[in-house]
Amino acid sequence: MKDRKHSLLRYHRQIILSYIGKEGQEKLNKSKVLIVGAGGLGSVVAYYLASSGIGYIGIVDPDIVELSNLQRQILHNEEHIGMPKAISAMINLKKLNSEINILPYPEEINKRNVFELINSYDIVVACPDNFKTRFILNDACFKLQKPLVVGAVSEFEGHVLNVIPPEGPCYNCLFEDAKDENFVQGILAPVAGIIGSIQAVETLKILLSIGESLHGRMLIYDALKDIFREVKFLKNPSCQICKRC
Ligand SMILES: [Zn+2]
Repeated sequence: MKDRKHSLLRYHRQIILSYIGKEGQEKLNKSKVLIVGAGGLGSVVAYYLASSGIGYIGIVDPDIVELSNLQRQILHNEEHIGMPKAISAMINLKKLNSEINILPYPEEINKRNVFELINSYDIVVACPDNFKTRFILNDACFKLQKPLVVGAVSEFEGHVLNVIPPEGPCYNCLFEDAKDENFVQGILAPVAGIIGSIQAVETLKILLSIGESLHGRMLIYDALKDIFREVKFLKNPSCQICKRC
């Protein structure tokens, strides 16, 4: 009884929301979310999903914490320099919420291990810093019918969109020809915070089946002009990923 009372108190401001309530909170407590990338976006997504009481959070990241990460990757800290980001993430998220399960995967996601990694999760949040990983996740999420919340950030801009199989459009419909650049791009730290926050919002909405999802539309944030733009996009009839559904 003590645990339940404790949880009611912890999530009180969420439970009193009309679209959530105790039932919605219980749903979140049972949900399993995989976050791919514990960098600038993943830091914020992970913090908000942990504080919201997502019962199982998997964190995939093959890298170690470096000093140059700390400008925007707020899930880590100076004491964790040299530690795998997935482990650093687990330690800090546990300090925020010890009642949930954090599963670290300090490995690179690739075409071979992606299915095993995402299979037991309800939803995947893509927070990597490259197109290659987003394409791998888009493909695997379509094959396994898992919702995918995609975020990306560069310099003063960022965007978010959702992929909701079996319905197109998908990530590949919009970014089919995109290629990774070979140079390091600058990022204004709070822009990653804003985009990661929107990804966390979209993840909670999908888990709770509330509101309108960013499906078939991409939300773009321009920090220099301080505007949000919405770009609607349709299924590409020649898309090799979502046409098979
Ligand atoms: Zn597609």
